Order: sequence, then C-alpha cells, then structure tokens
Amino acid sequence: MVSVARVMAAFKVDVSDPELVRSQMQAFRRQIPLLYFILVISTMAVAVTHVQCAPAWVAIYVPGALCVACVIRCLHWWRARHVVLTVEQAVPALRRSMRLVGVIAVGFTAWAWALFRYGPAYEQAQVAFYMATTVVGCVFCLMHLRAAALWLLTIVIGSFTVCLMAAGRPVFIAMAVDMIFVGVALAFIVHLYHRNFAGLEHSKRELLASQAITQKLSDDNFRLANIDSLTGLPNRRSFFSSLTALAEQHLSETGGFHMGLIDLDGFKQVNDIYGHSSGDVVLREVGARLLALADPAMFFARLGGDEFGVIIQRHLSETELDRLGQTLCEQLARPYTVGGNTAELSGTIGWAGQPTGAVSVTEMFERADAALYVGKESRRGTAVVFSAEHENRVRRASLVAQELKAADLDAELYLEFQPICDVRARSVVGFEALGRWRSPKLGQVRPDEFIRIAERTDLIRGVTEVLLRKALAEAANWPPALYLSFNLSALDISSVPRSRRLLDIVGEGATPAARVHFEITETAVTRDFRQARASLTLIKEAGCHVSLDDFGTGYSSLSYVHRLPFDTIKIDRSFVAEVDTDLASGQIIKSVIDLCRNLGLACVVEGVETDAQREILTFLGARVMQGYLFGRPAAANALPLVQLQLAAL
Ligand code: C2E
Ligand code: CA
Ligand code: CA
Repeated sequence: MVSVARVMAAFKVDVSDPELVRSQMQAFRRQIPLLYFILVISTMAVAVTHVQCAPAWVAIYVPGALCVACVIRCLHWWRARHVVLTVEQAVPALRRSMRLVGVIAVGFTAWAWALFRYGPAYEQAQVAFYMATTVVGCVFCLMHLRAAALWLLTIVIGSFTVCLMAAGRPVFIAMAVDMIFVGVALAFIVHLYHRNFAGLEHSKRELLASQAITQKLSDDNFRLANIDSLTGLPNRRSFFSSLTALAEQHLSETGGFHMGLIDLDGFKQVNDIYGHSSGDVVLREVGARLLALADPAMFFARLGGDEFGVIIQRHLSETELDRLGQTLCEQLARPYTVGGNTAELSGTIGWAGQPTGAVSVTEMFERADAALYVGKESRRGTAVVFSAEHENRVRRASLVAQELKAADLDAELYLEFQPICDVRARSVVGFEALGRWRSPKLGQVRPDEFIRIAERTDLIRGVTEVLLRKALAEAANWPPALYLSFNLSALDISSVPRSRRLLDIVGEGATPAARVHFEITETAVTRDFRQARASLTLIKEAGCHVSLDDFGTGYSSLSYVHRLPFDTIKIDRSFVAEVDTDLASGQIIKSVIDLCRNLGLACVVEGVETDAQREILTFLGARVMQGYLFGRPAAANALPLVQLQLAAL
C-alpha cells in the first residue's frame, strides 16, 4: 500500500519546497528547445512518409498545426530565456508546464494513433518507432519535472500499447511489451534523477547557508578588528593600514595627503569627576562631531583613549590646513552634556603633511606627534602644523633619548638642591632635590628636557631610582628638622609595585621616611587617577609626605586635592610671576592658601624672585616659599646648612 501511495505521489505536482521547484524549472527551461526540436523533426519525418497513404488532414494539416504550435511555444520561450524565475513564479510555471505536457502528450499521441490506421506495415512500424523514440527523447528533456515526465510516459506508452495490441500483429505486440518495460525503466531513472537532483539542491543550499554564515562571521571579525566599538569610527589598526596604503599610492603619484593627531584636553577630568560612563558619552559625542565634518577625502579614526586621528587624502595649503584645524577645534570645544552636567573640553591637533612622499608612515606619525606635543605644551585647544622647528625638536629628542639610554646614570646624574623657607619663622624647612644630567656627549641637558624624554622612553624608572638614592644619601647629612622634597613622574606612580620599589629605596636609605616629601604634578595624577590614588596612599602609609606640585598649571580641579591624600600644595610659579601686577593672580593665590588652611594642608608658593613678591605673598597669608630670592638650586656641598636662619628676611 505504501509503495502504491508513493508511486501515486510521484505523479503529483510537489510544491512543498518552492525553492526546489524554482531550481527544477530553471533547469527544465534550458532543455525546452531540445524538446520541441525532437517533436517537430520526428513529427515532420513521419508526416512526410504518410502524405501518399493518409488523408491530407492527418498527414499534413494536423501535424503542421502541431508543429506550428511547437514553434510558437519555442519562440515564446526564447523571448523569455533570460528571465530568472522567482520562487513565487516557479510554482504556477510548473503547473502550466504540467498542463502543457498533458496537452502535447494527448495531442501527438492522438495524431499518431490516427495515422497508424492508414499506413501499410512499414509506415505503421515507423509510427511505432516514432512514438517510442520521441517519448524517450521527451522524457529525457522533462527529467527535471518528474510528475510531467511520468504522465507523459503513462499517456504515450499506455495509449500506444493499446493501439499496438489492437493491431493484433505479433511484431506490434512484442513492441508494445518492449515499450512497457522500457517505460517502467525510464520511470525508474526519472525517479532516481529527481531524488539526486533534490539532494543536490539541498546540499547546495546548505553550502550557501554555511557560506553566508562564514561570510557574516568574517564580516563581524573584520568589523571588530577595524572598528572602534564605542564611537563606531575606524580604529587604530584601520587608521594605520589606510595611512600605509595611502603612502604607497602617493609614492608613485604626485599630489599629497595629510594626517592629524587629535588629543582631547581635559578628558581625564571628565572621566574622574563624572565617571567612566560619562567619559564614554563624551568620546561618542566627539566621534559624532568629527564624523559630521568628514567628507569623502577625510577619514577619522579613534586611536585609543582620548586620542583620535584624521587623514586627508588630498593636498591642502598651510592656510587651508590651519582653517580646517580651527574648524575641528571649534567643534570639539563646544560644551558636552553629560548626565545633566555640562563639561568643557577642547581638542589639540598636530598636523603632518606628505607633499612629496619623502617620509615614511612612521616618520609622518612622529611629526604629527611632535606638532601635537608642541600644541599640548603651549597652545592647547588649537591646531599646530609640523614645521622645520619641530623637526629639530624631534631630532634632538631622539638624540637625547639615545644618549640617555647609553648613559651611565650613576656617574652622569647628580642633584642640586633648592631651599624651601618658612618666611615667618625665617628658617629653611627643607630642600627640593632637582635632577641634573651632564652627558659626556651633549653636555648639560636641561632637566625638563631629559625628564620628559626619560618619561616617554620609560628610562625614567632608572633615572628616578638613581636620583632618589643620591638625594636620600645627601639628606641624611642634614639636620633632622629639614625635609627632602623629591620629584616623581607620572610613571613612577603608575603602578603599586613601582611605587613600592621607591619606598624600598627610601627604607634602604638613612633618611627617615617622615622626612621625605614626594612631589607629584597635577598632570601626573590625572593620567590615571585610580592608580595615582593607590600609589599615593601606599606612599602615605609608609610615612612619607605627598605634595601636589605645580598647582594651577593643568586642568586644576580642586576635587583632586581632597580626593587624594596630599599633605602639601605647591602653587606654581606662573601665578607668582604676576602677583605684583595682576590682581587675579593674587586672588587665586589667596583662595588656594585659604583652601589649604581649611583642608589642613601645608602650602608652598614657588618661584618667589623679588622682595615685592614676598611681601605681597606674606600679606596674602603665604608662609612657606621657594624661589631664587631665597636660593637658587645649588650643589649639595654648597648648601647653607650651617646658617639656616635666613639673613635675607
Ligand atoms: P619643578 O618641580 O617645578 O621644579 C622647580 C623648578 O623651578 C626648577 O627648575 C627650579 O630651578 C625652578 N625655580 C626655582 N625657583 C625659581 C624662581 O624663583 N624662578 C624661576 N624662574 N624658576 C625657579 P629645574 O631645576 O629646571 O627643573 C625643571 C623641572 O624639571 C622641575 O620643575 C621638575 O618638574 C622637573 N624635574 C627636576 N628634577 C626632577 C627629578 O629629579 N625628577 C623628576 N621627575 N622631575 C624633575
Ligand atoms: Ca617640584
Ligand atoms: Ca613646581
């Protein structure tokens, strides 16, 4: 029963898988001309031989009409041969083809049956041969449409077997039996082919689906590898590959391009004061503002942290570059709304150009970095274009770095000490140790220069350790009431193990921890607030003091002062320089002095050079001061340790 049902099912049009029907129809359409060709040629061959023995209607008109119908259908198909069937069109097309196959089968069989009656034995054999060969040919053409092929076989072989048997001749009876067996075998082949085709289609589809998944995964990977997930901008990797590609292209072409490095000023404060999620909001907003300014020749990327990059794929004059930089800076300086608050930030840009293809990508990046550095140092919130002056700077920096790396730090580094005085008690309270480097090749190198380069090249660890040991050894000779103030870099407090190492050095020295003050600048603290706090807490726990150096030069926020365990604030000398001419400087100094008093912190005013300044500062409430007025930095053996009472006061 089951097999009968399966045989019956094979005769039905199966539309349960429209996608499969579509593929079957597409394959079938390729064989339609062949089908009509077989029909027309075979029909004409049979008709021609019957012109003499059969009436005209059956030998000429009917086959003629059938052939014309075939040619018309063939032309119709030819016109539509390029149309690709959709899934929706495939099922109706299959049904139409089924009906047409039925009509063709009935039409040609009926005609052949009619013709069979007229001819003598040879002609009759020709008709039988015609039916047998044509049906085999047509079934092969219909291979993709199982139901149609089976119906064709059944109609043609069924009816013609009856016809041959009715003729009563043993030859025809043998032919009929033969046709039945061949028909069954053909039906089996059609069925096998259908199964294989369907299986092939399914595996093709599975392959395509898995290819699509692989493609999607590879697209995702590409996106993750090249796009910054926070801002949606291309990331550092993508930036550098674009830069490299552009550089290669421009080596062989004229024209030029530019790159810019954009660094946000004040971002770390936003992160620290409002939290990391607010920092993310700002970064996203920066990304959106930059993107709004992009054009097809301008490519923005986030290089990491609060650093962004821009590539301009055409040559701009210096004025154009300046103007573009200004526009970018203006956009970045607009206020940012973060969680109901308004944050003020700015962006500094360093530009480097590639007009001739003469420098490598690395050099170009270094140039932009040098221009950015100059901007960060002296022109925050503006764009700086790399120039020859910066070029010298870059060269000098790499020379200093090279020499510092090769230096015998113990032999070449030494210290000078500058007194810190209590003007009310008229006495020296401590000395600030200031690092000095005399390089055999470069001579005396300014401390701010070699310290900055040591910080950038991570040589600072060795520098700090050598200087600290020397400073402690020196301070051990001082009267116990004097403290040693020692400068630390951002990197020195960038991790707890690093800070612990410094405390070990203090422990090994002969100066008690309580007499050691570590000075840390605001910028060092703002680099990584959390790490800085952990390190400073450790230093405090070891019994050392902590001073906030150069207060007022960075993005001073008073919030740092009371969120970090400082003992002392050192007011930067830039305020003191103008204290006798600028009312605002005086007011700032006064408010910081008051703040220190309220918070129970000590306060040192730096850079006091004249009596006038000292007097005003005393009037404003300052008590502890440092500056050329009281003593320039001097070698340890020249310190006025024996006459600590200040004659000058
Ligand atoms: P700083 O920590 O602010 O050090 C004070 C600087 O101001 C010293 O410059 C000192 O000579 C100078 N100074 C002192 N009084 C006056 C004054 O009345 N007028 C003027 N115009 N300047 C005055 P110096 O020695 O050139 O050091 C520059 C900077 O280099 C220091 O600034 C500090 O940031 C850094 N530095 C120096 N030694 C070290 C060190 O051992 N380690 C680290 N990390 N940084 C150091
Ligand atoms: Ca200092
Ligand atoms: Ca200072």
